[in-house]
Amino acid sequence: MGSIVDAEQARKLSLFRPLGYQRNSCGYCKSDNGSASYYTSSVSVRPGHYEQLVNRGWRRSGTLYYKQNLQRSCCPHYTMRLEASTFKSRKDQRKAINRWNKFVLGPEYIRRAAYLCPKTREEKKHRKCNFDLLTAVHEAEYSTVKRPIDPKTKKCLEPAHRFEVNIEGDSISQAKFELFLKYQTKIHKEDVSKWQQKEFKRFLCSGMSRSPADSKSNEKKLGSWHQCYRLDGKLIAVAVLDLMPSGVSSVYIFYDPEYEQWEFGKLSALREIALTIEGSYQYYYMGYYIHSCQKMRYKGSFRPQYILDPESHTWDPLDGELTEKLDKRPYVSLSRDRRLAAQGASESAENNPTEADAEVNDEEVSLFDLHMPGVLTLDEVKALDLDHWFLLVHGSFVHMIDLVGWEKMPIDHPQSIKGIIAELAAALGPNLFKESAVVLFD
Ligand SMILES: [Zn+2]
Repeated sequence: MGSIVDAEQARKLSLFRPLGYQRNSCGYCKSDNGSASYYTSSVSVRPGHYEQLVNRGWRRSGTLYYKQNLQRSCCPHYTMRLEASTFKSRKDQRKAINRWNKFVLGPEYIRRAAYLCPKTREEKKHRKCNFDLLTAVHEAEYSTVKRPIDPKTKKCLEPAHRFEVNIEGDSISQAKFELFLKYQTKIHKEDVSKWQQKEFKRFLCSGMSRSPADSKSNEKKLGSWHQCYRLDGKLIAVAVLDLMPSGVSSVYIFYDPEYEQWEFGKLSALREIALTIEGSYQYYYMGYYIHSCQKMRYKGSFRPQYILDPESHTWDPLDGELTEKLDKRPYVSLSRDRRLAAQGASESAENNPTEADAEVNDEEVSLFDLHMPGVLTLDEVKALDLDHWFLLVHGSFVHMIDLVGWEKMPIDHPQSIKGIIAELAAALGPNLFKESAVVLFD
């Protein structure tokens, strides 16, 4: 069989290896098997395709891509995002960034600079009444700090610290690995003996394909990147970012515990919102929002924040109706509530799996029988041209229909090849289906 896809076409496809639906322990409430997700793995996902997945409730951890079944998980993971240009900073956020800038510049620099390059009255007045995020984020960066000659010393006026932030490829380095271990030990109280370089690499340094190749190019950056913070030449924080055509997604941040008091969680989020604006990415994704998890509530303080409806894949403000409902029950889909209300059915009765449903061992039934929210129904999948979906076998592409016995395979059987393929199509959705290929047997 010759390949049906040329090299040019192949480069545009994302590849997915279906791993199926699985229950796992929950990292938030520590239940043994509380979280249920559909999984695939991939070493080749295009950033634009990943954006489509994120907007359907997916997320990745290294090369593992997953979509949680929010209805059947103890701590549902809601996808959240904010439109960067509408962001309204809070007082504590402004304070964090001003405090850091003051520390970097130092009192001596601030005093001399006020004398040597004084701000005009207008500038002072403007600063007092307005907080300009972009100015504040870059204010203490060495490349923007003014360094006039000080007539007293005949030398350039230098800030207390040299602070630099660069966006670099997601490659691994000894400095990054050591910083990560230090962070996991001190901040997360983790026994880090399990973290070998290999695991660290898989977790944070093996992301999506990246462009452009040169990090200094002015072309829009896409794919997996590291935003590295250095103070006096020493690496002090790394923010792992997925850059998508219309979004900046925060994957992880780790920093030197010696700088814990500076609130790098806040500082990095503000910097990433600035990056979203400056790079014309539009949306900033802070990862999943788990309403029951107290530690996550801080994400809600970056406003206005929106939550992805798990069924209609539309966005609802994280306040008012949605927050009130989340206080009462773990699974909320406002689109479902509205549909049921229109039918005159009660929300609470229909919203959560019934007791009989809960008895089902969900790892043994198909996604279709589970009615997993946000995936296509069996009828919707049957309407797709599964026969001509690309399959990568031993390095060459074929169509599904080229598989021996394909036509006779049962589509609704989760263990049959066609069943596995149909579940993957249902989870990826109709658009990505056309721009991807499945990896099986290699
Ligand atoms: Zn849980």
